[in-house]
Amino acid sequence: MTIEEQINALREELRAHNYNYYVLDNPIISDYDFDKKLKVLQTLEEQYPEFYDANSPTLRVGGEITKNFKTVVHEHRMYSLDNSYSKEDLLDWETRIKKLVDGEIKYTCELKYDGASISLTYEKGNLLKAVTRGDGVQGDEVTANIKTIKSIPLKLKGDYLQKFDIRGEIVLPFEGFNKMNKERVEIGEEPYKNPRNTASGSLKLQDSSEVAKRPLDCLLYSVIISNNNSPFGRNAEGKVGFQTQFESLEKARSWGFKVPKAAQLVNSLEGVFEFINYWDVKRYDLPFETDGVVIKVNSLFQQEELGYTAKSPRWAMAYKFKAEQVSTVLNSISYQVGRTGAITPVANLEPVELAGTIVKRASLHNADQIEKLDIRAGDTVFVEKGGEIIPKIITVDFKKRPENSQSTQYITHCPECKTELVRQEGDAKHYCPNFYGCNPQIIGRIQHYITRKAMDIEGLGGETVGLLVNAGLINNYADLYELTAVQVIPLERMAEKSAENLINGIEASKQILFERVLYAIGIRYVGETVAKKLAKHYKSIDNLANASIDDLVNVDEIGEKIAESVINFFSSNENRIIIDRLKQFGVQLEVSEGSLTNQTEKLKNLSFVVSGVFNSISRDELKKMIEDNGGKVSSSISKRTSYIVAGDRMGPSKKIKADQLQIPIISEEEFLNSFI
Ligand code: AMP
Ligand code: ZN
Repeated sequence: MTIEEQINALREELRAHNYNYYVLDNPIISDYDFDKKLKVLQTLEEQYPEFYDANSPTLRVGGEITKNFKTVVHEHRMYSLDNSYSKEDLLDWETRIKKLVDGEIKYTCELKYDGASISLTYEKGNLLKAVTRGDGVQGDEVTANIKTIKSIPLKLKGDYLQKFDIRGEIVLPFEGFNKMNKERVEIGEEPYKNPRNTASGSLKLQDSSEVAKRPLDCLLYSVIISNNNSPFGRNAEGKVGFQTQFESLEKARSWGFKVPKAAQLVNSLEGVFEFINYWDVKRYDLPFETDGVVIKVNSLFQQEELGYTAKSPRWAMAYKFKAEQVSTVLNSISYQVGRTGAITPVANLEPVELAGTIVKRASLHNADQIEKLDIRAGDTVFVEKGGEIIPKIITVDFKKRPENSQSTQYITHCPECKTELVRQEGDAKHYCPNFYGCNPQIIGRIQHYITRKAMDIEGLGGETVGLLVNAGLINNYADLYELTAVQVIPLERMAEKSAENLINGIEASKQILFERVLYAIGIRYVGETVAKKLAKHYKSIDNLANASIDDLVNVDEIGEKIAESVINFFSSNENRIIIDRLKQFGVQLEVSEGSLTNQTEKLKNLSFVVSGVFNSISRDELKKMIEDNGGKVSSSISKRTSYIVAGDRMGPSKKIKADQLQIPIISEEEFLNSFI
């Protein structure tokens, strides 16, 4: 056997083992033997990089870092589903569709898996890309992360179609979820709230090796053919694939996908009802979360005739199971202080299992809610879990109210700083007005400032902010810019390297665009979109700070509430001082010219490829810098590439290509020093 054949044979073998283990749940070799073979393959691949394959089983462990996920427009839109809640709803639906199609209608019934939807594109049997649903029209490309999910085949088997998209749901089965949480609690971290949100959050992790550690699974439910001329797609021999939804599921299963066996073909709504009745009970035995059933017209011809409304297919309907309710005892009510000073009452419950997770707390929203429910410590309450993370209290079981029960007195003073609370007219919530002296507010504002959508300060996490504030090192976000590594090192879990990263991260935030700074400084009601509008209109923080109410409300989509809040923010002396300091430190407080026109032509006629992860600047900023100076950025290396700017963990295939074509590779420092 040649080396290449050896490598391919090993890949083939490991792929089959992955399939047995993760799709069929039926491993035929031990984990130990699997790892041994994987190591052999890894070594061979390192020795012979010329046989690189992006879909090799060795790449399942992750390692690729994505700073900013690429937005991709779906070739076929990802629709929502219409919901039904009763058998009458389904009868109505059938009456509607029977008017639109001829012939009898059969249905495929499937479970509605509760996770994060994903669209996978395959070409010639290879996984090409994976894109999140996003808004249905466009999503984020998360291929590197998706490849770490072992039940997703990177290469297909059997008579697969030449090009198609397949849709499915990324779920985190209960067993893995609970295990993950156990480990988190052990290292002193908060457990995750529910499998669905954790699954969807996992898709957007920047470090794919972190995703690889999560026991995610992917359940597929829909094959979509790209070529409109051949409605049912064709395999390598030119044969058509399938003509019904049910067949398509069977086909997908034969190509190596995990398609739950629960899917069932029925001849009429009677069969649908049976399916619903069965799963309404049996769903609790499933290893993953479901929130209903999806019923689809089986014939693809009929589906085509029925088509779509603006938001969903006419040929499919979701049937939602009733949310599960449990009753438990309310032990006490505690009060949390948010970054804006808003007080949120929280119900501390006797732990109880609800829809597969242990519930200990529920949100009570505000004083009115408490009054409306007439809820008291010691009460037995009904708790329900809808789509939200924190479960809701639906009602009190008054029959079980203890005799000595006392009605709930809402707190009058801040639980953190003891300041008297205020409640303004029209506000549902109470606020702690001690803006500058109340710890959770101070910490919360800085935490908001550093988040990804705001200043995206790498190397600084929410917990560290708490430590910094409590250590008296910072009191507001401007103080961040005066931190030194020496001050930070003594903090818990800090070392020289991490302290340095933190300081570098803070330094890099000075490049963040004005519109994001405006969002980061945390003016109440000024979210990302509003911040963009204000930045565009006013161009600088000074202009904004000097704007009058009348002036502000004249800006498109800025209402009185936002305008007042802006005025309020800048009328505070403390805020003005903080903003002045940000200005002195070099934070972007006006729209930079560079974002409007090209700054220079320094890099004219030069073409760059940017690869890897960078320290002092993000990949996007680097690209923008090149373009702002007249250079070209391209995504793949060719003879025309002038330089490759490489950060940490440059892709291995790029490295090989660069060597072959003898394109110089430069570091970010070299680039910044020599070119900019
Ligand atoms: P909704 O978000 O409530 O409009 O429901 C649509 C979503 O249900 C889709 O985006 C899918 O992610 C999800 N879903 C889960 N299971 C299925 C299934 N068997 N068929 C179709 N969609 C499903
Ligand atoms: Zn307070």
